Amino acid sequence: MGTRPLLNRRLHGLGTTIFAEMSALATATGSINLGQGFPDTDGPAEIAEAAVRAIRDGHGNQYPPGPGIPELRTAVAEHQQRFYGLGYDPDTEVLVTAGATEAIAAALLALLEPGDEVIALEPFYDSYAACIAMAGATRVPWTLRAPDFRPDLDRLRALITPRTRLLLLNTPHNPTGLVLTPAELAAVAELAVEHDLLVVTDEVYEHLVFATGHHPIAALPGMRERTVSISSAGKTFSFTGWKVGWVTATAPLVAAVRTAKQYLTYVSAGPFQYAVAEALRLPDEYFAGFRAELLRKRDLLSTGLRAAGFQVFDPEGTYFITTDITPLGEKDGLEFCRALPERCGVVAIPNVVFYDDAEAGRSLVRFTFCKRDEILAEAVARLGRL
Ligand code: PMP
Ligand code: GLN
Repeated sequence: MGTRPLLNRRLHGLGTTIFAEMSALATATGSINLGQGFPDTDGPAEIAEAAVRAIRDGHGNQYPPGPGIPELRTAVAEHQQRFYGLGYDPDTEVLVTAGATEAIAAALLALLEPGDEVIALEPFYDSYAACIAMAGATRVPWTLRAPDFRPDLDRLRALITPRTRLLLLNTPHNPTGLVLTPAELAAVAELAVEHDLLVVTDEVYEHLVFATGHHPIAALPGMRERTVSISSAGKTFSFTGWKVGWVTATAPLVAAVRTAKQYLTYVSAGPFQYAVAEALRLPDEYFAGFRAELLRKRDLLSTGLRAAGFQVFDPEGTYFITTDITPLGEKDGLEFCRALPERCGVVAIPNVVFYDDAEAGRSLVRFTFCKRDEILAEAVARLGRL
């Protein structure tokens, strides 16, 4: 095959995702997997039933419409209205995707030209770097630093250049658990308007904000026309395998994202779209109950991690806790995570893989708490032996 590398240079170094690597390690060693973020309890039984019913009734077993089934687009628009007072036309301003992952890919592939700069909160969720690279654009890290991980707005201003095309936000933020405050969002929005930037915002943990409530940047002055908002059913309804996501934005932005999306998957998850339409209409108690349950689990795990000697950064949102392993006499999160299954039968994620600035993330390690109480308790007991 000659000497030319098979993998093109845009994807060079991206290799296997850390989630795949660490979940495989968990399976191979029989460890408790607090790495990849997926719940070990499925979502509401009536929503699972709705998917079964859709398949039996022949709903979505053939290609659904390209933008998503009308029932789901309507339910997404209703959800944005109900929780945030944001109005979107289900026919032109909502697009159903194969999870948030495809929405991110389609948005970046559609909106970026080679050479554009994308400012993204660092640490970044792994698919951001890959999709920015596939679009031929350049990522510009806006680094969040321990211990509080608050964004430095002066730094953001300094990072903007004439080549900046897009700000890529993620709130609540994976892996730090940061939730951008209304004041921080307003400052970001002002800069976006001043410099005429697009904003792509990944809000998949929108229903996992523990104290302050979730604030979509699309609701701020001047932002509706420049913001692509992304979410998905995986986290909110505990069906991460269904891969139903969505975009809400103005009609021209949705049309652009749809153009890329139709050549990625075209469509996906027909019957699940019907079920997710029902899920989005669950009563407020579902969403409040889910949040309360995860908050309880957060406290269970953070107490245990502290007792085990980790420095714990309590997350304001998401179902992840970032820790620092320095107090355990450890320095290197990657080494630590590779050895952890052997040492005590637990798997975690080294945050350094989400950084360009390796020093900023070297000693940070992420644990998820979307697991049954007894699993969290056992994990904590094992980590206590370190
Ligand atoms: N964005 C973030 C920040 C995530 O943590 C994840 C993982 N669920 C995704 C996007 C991907 O979402 P989905 O599974 O809906 O593709
Ligand atoms: N979002 C999940 C996490 O951060 C992982 C999803 C994936 O495996 N790509 O753990």
